[in-house]
Formats: sequence, structure tokens, C-alpha cells
Amino acid sequence: MSLNLTTKLPLRALLSAATRAGPRRCAPAASLQKNAATTLAVVRRFWTSTPHAATPARQEHLVHDASNAGQLDGKPARHVAVNIDGDPRVFDTVFLRDSCTCAQCVNPDSKQKLFQTSDIPEDLEGACRTVVDKEKGWVVELVWKNDVPGYGVEHRTRHSIDWLRRALTTELELRGGVRSDERVLWDREIITKNNKWVDYKAYMAEDEVLFDALSHLNKYGLLFLKNVPDSEEGVVDIAGRIGTLKDTFYGRTWDVKSKPHAENIAYTNVFLGLHMDLLYTSNPPHLQLLHSLRARAPKGESFFSDSFHAAHTLHSRSAFHFRTLCTFPVTYHYHHDNHHYHYTRPTIELFPYPKYSEPTNLAIRNINWSPPFQGPFEARIGGENQSALRNYLSASNSFEKLLSSEENMYEYRLEEGECVIFDNRRVLHARRAFDASKGERWLKGAYVDDDVFFSKLRVLEERYKGNWIADGVTRPAVK
Ligand SMILES: [Zn+2]
Repeated sequence: MSLNLTTKLPLRALLSAATRAGPRRCAPAASLQKNAATTLAVVRRFWTSTPHAATPARQEHLVHDASNAGQLDGKPARHVAVNIDGDPRVFDTVFLRDSCTCAQCVNPDSKQKLFQTSDIPEDLEGACRTVVDKEKGWVVELVWKNDVPGYGVEHRTRHSIDWLRRALTTELELRGGVRSDERVLWDREIITKNNKWVDYKAYMAEDEVLFDALSHLNKYGLLFLKNVPDSEEGVVDIAGRIGTLKDTFYGRTWDVKSKPHAENIAYTNVFLGLHMDLLYTSNPPHLQLLHSLRARAPKGESFFSDSFHAAHTLHSRSAFHFRTLCTFPVTYHYHHDNHHYHYTRPTIELFPYPKYSEPTNLAIRNINWSPPFQGPFEARIGGENQSALRNYLSASNSFEKLLSSEENMYEYRLEEGECVIFDNRRVLHARRAFDASKGERWLKGAYVDDDVFFSKLRVLEERYKGNWIADGVTRPAVK
């Protein structure tokens, strides 16, 4: 039966513990009183069925805190108070039951949940006590009344005090709108000083190099690789190191070459202004990779600009312009014979923040800026909202000036064997015109989705940093 039950108190210690007065770690929230005789009976029945030896180290710990241990605290209740760092913290038993990780509840191999939240009876009640688990350390162990149908009386749920503490912290931080954000906003000077160049072989072979590279990419939204093999598969390998490539109607990889009568402005040799890719789709790519295979045409420099930096500057100069860009809907489209994409979004998207509080760090989720792919405005084009479009015109003009100002743009001409990776929802890219008649220019591109990137980053963060971030909240690595 009990699957995580790996240590036990010596019965003598248990008996003395149960009769000794002292602070307890958990109790029904409604009443902190208990019936010692009943408790003892349950405890004895409980432990005699689970014979395991405690390690010496654990026993020391147990003796030290024996007054808390092993007691089943009172009658089952819908809410249970667990003593965490000296304070009774109340948990709903539905939460404690729902997050049970025993092998009856979560398949140890697939890690998939074996029951549904909706299966939990509304009259579920739990009684808990504190015990020591070999793997989890101090845990509260719950016995269930009116458990999920199909679960026997022997079913036990164990949560470490550590895990419960973290659950509370995460809940508080999510509710409070905490946003852990490691991004460094940059202008030309800052990025010139901080740019990172990573050797292709090291990036491909060493996980620590990859972690360092992806962390940097997450911070600055820009990363360069050098010594990339002269192969059309180079960009596939680089993206594949992060995860699955994002396939689009441009293909799994695509070529940026000059060609006549191009259906996309990117395939010509003219100047291509600051923009982001695929804003006419519901989930534009997070990362864009461009590998230079041929750079024999003069000019054709690339430009990059941190739109988050520009948005912050805009906010400091005109909160009104900033708010206009957060709300005014801009339509993007790609409308050709066989493709018709259409999506409307504001220029600046913020993370939600708690009501009645101004965001202190301007928690920007995404910026959307892609003038070449704009379609006609569809909302607020006149009538009742006569000033809205004028406000947008004025705000977008100020924003554009910041984006393309010389002190904010980073210019670089990608040489053969180099690859740039950038955050397509933050760092804008542009290209200067080049002379296609004087030589070949060929970039091979690929995209990676946000889910894929953050999954890889979290795996590496867990391994090398001991914590990971989701929804802006930092969580310790799972033991
Ligand atoms: Zn379970």
C-alpha cells in the first residue's frame, strides 16, 4: 500500500509524543483541540501497518521535534491548518487532495494524473499529522473521509512542509502580481558592450554553454553565433538545440535571397524598415534565427532595436502616448492568392497587474510593430471616435522616432558563418538596401515558438540554477 511511506517513529516515541503537550504542525482549521485517546488509537493502527526503519539522521530530527510528530490531529475537516514557520496556515482539503502525488493518483512514469478534480466529492474531509518521509523530509500526511470514489481507506496523501510553503508563496506572488523579470533594456551603447558571441560547436555540444546563451538571449533578446558550418542545415541544428522548429507557410526554414517580382518585401534588395515577423498570426514566433550563408553583395547591414526600451522611454515622456499604444487596435494581414491571414492587436501588450495599483516595472508582455504588414484600420476610423486615430498617429510617430533613433539602433552586417537569434516579440529588425548585382546574399531563417524556448530554458534553469520561472513567479526546482 502506502507508497511514499518510508520512515516511521518508534512506537514508544510515538506514544509519548501523543500524550505530551506541545505545538502541533497540523490541525483541523475549525478546532485546534483534539481528543488524545482517539488520536492515539488511530495513530497506532496506522503505524503498525507500515513498518519501515528511520535512518539515524532522521531519528535525530524526530527526537528533536517529537512533540509534533505522528499525531493525527482531531476529526476530519474540510479545511486543515498546517503549522508553517510558526503560523497556522489554512489549506482547503480539496487542494491538498487534488495535488496528491502518490502512485495511485499520479502515474510515476507518465506523470499523468489518474483522477479528475471533478471526481473529488464536495463533502471530502481530511485529517492530518506530521511525519518524516525519507525522500520529502517533514511532511503532513492526510487521511481522507469521503475520498474520490475508487480509493480505499489506506490511501494517504503526503505533502512536504517545504512544498506547502512554496505553494503559499507562489499563490501570494501570483495574486500580488509579482513579476520576476531578468530582461535588460538596451540602447546601442548598452548592447554594443554586452553582446554575446557564442561558438557554434560549444553551443551544440555543451549544455552549460547553451544555458548561458539562452539566458543571455532571454535577457537581451539578441544573441550571435559564429563558426556555423556552411550548410543549409546549420540553422536547423541551432534551432533544434532549443527544440522543435515552428513551421509556417514560409516553410520549416526559409531563404532570404534577392529575387525578381518578390511576393514579400523581404525577398527584394530594397531597404526594409524595423519590423517583426508574422504579426498577422495569432501566435507570432518568439525567436527568429538568421544564418548567413552568403554575404557577398555590398551593404545589406542588419539593424536591431529594443522596442521594450523604446516603450519605457515613451512612457516616461508621455503616459498618454503609451496608453494610446496599449489600446488602439492595429490590423495586420497577409492577403495573397492562397493565403489570407488577418489579426488585430494593440502595439503594446502589458501583463495584467493587480487592480488599484499602477504597474511599477511596466510589465510588458509583447510589442507589436510591423508597418509593412499593416492592413487598413478597422476600428475607430471616424464617427464617434474622431480623436482616437489622431491620437494613435501622434503616439506611433513618437514611438517610431524612439525605435529608429541612432542611439537606440544596433547595426551589424552579418558575415558568412554567423547566425543571429533574436526575440521577435521584442527586438525589431531591419535591413539596409544592398546591391544584388554585385554578389550573392543569402540568409537561411527559422522560427521557434515561445513555449518551446521557455521549456528548454526552464529545464536548464532547474539543472544549473535550482529554480525556474513561469508566469513571472520564480519557483524552486522540484526535488
Ligand atoms: Zn493519492
